Amino acid sequence: MGLLSIAWPRRRDGCFLYVSDRGLANLILTRRGFGAITFGHVIVSNVEPTPATWRHELRHVAQYERLGLAFLPLYLWYRARYGYFDHPLERDASEDPRLFS
Ligand SMILES: [Zn+2]
Repeated sequence: MGLLSIAWPRRRDGCFLYVSDRGLANLILTRRGFGAITFGHVIVSNVEPTPATWRHELRHVAQYERLGLAFLPLYLWYRARYGYFDHPLERDASEDPRLFS
């Protein structure tokens, strides 16, 4: 997704960060109302992440490390069941982490 967003990755805190408002990132992020998305240790953002956004995405990286390949189906299932604001993984990433501390 990063490469299809017409961006070169940067290393930051052990992750690859792609910042782009073009290509696939633009399609997926901006049309769905998100500023950034995380896949394992790859973070794609349509703008330079703020410190709060970066902390949030790093928390998703930690969730990926714990859940492995189960992250994506679990994320989608929670999304369908709880929506975004009550999503357990989103709440964990936005508040004091509780799930995998
Ligand atoms: Zn999130």
